[in-house]
Amino acid sequence: ADEIQKLRDRKRAKEHEIKDSILPEIAIVGRSNVGKSTMLNTLTESPNTARVSSKPGLTRQLNFYRCGDKFAVVDMPGYGFAFAKEEDKVAWKELIEDYLGTRKSLKRIYVMIDARHGLKVADKEFLTMMGTTSPKKFQVVLTKCDLVFPPDLARTYMVVQEELKKSFKNAMTDRILMVSSYTGAGMNTLRKDMLFACGQ
Ligand code: GDP
Repeated sequence: ADEIQKLRDRKRAKEHEIKDSILPEIAIVGRSNVGKSTMLNTLTESPNTARVSSKPGLTRQLNFYRCGDKFAVVDMPGYGFAFAKEEDKVAWKELIEDYLGTRKSLKRIYVMIDARHGLKVADKEFLTMMGTTSPKKFQVVLTKCDLVFPPDLARTYMVVQEELKKSFKNAMTDRILMVSSYTGAGMNTLRKDMLFACGQ
């Protein structure tokens, strides 16, 4: 319960801070360890904006990063392993209701999925929760693509696309983006996609 309260307090503080933000926003979510922080570092081109950590659950707050003068990227907390804790579920539901589902300046949600694993139980639980709580569209991005052989990547792409089409009505399923923060592959396409989502 303490943890939830802390999360709420921090969230409120952050919301207050960015209340008058005039930049369009992009939100980035994903399972802990999916490579979100590393991607943010690459995306924002200033290596110290996001802390890179291999420990799950350390980024328990909303962090806002400017991406040039065009838009801001909002780093959401990483979600855990199959939402074992009820309080995690409650906290996330609130985050979705208060931020992801309702914020006007939020133009698109990007959901990071590890290219080695595709949609895991925790991802599906999270997407289901988003689907029932928020009307916003989300775009899936496969991360760490450098770790997967191209034929396996192609297979994962198709499986994920089918699963999204079947079960998640808010998913953008025309295409799934693929990136590697290590090689830089797909990063320009992702950046362009974000700019486009922000009307640039
Ligand atoms: P986060 O918890 O989602 O923020 O994940 P991190 O950015 O901390 O990354 C988790 C681990 O995956 C770290 O050991 C990273 O070095 C590694 N990682 C992140 N992105 C990539 C990538 O594109 N390719 C490879 N091979 N490893 C990555």
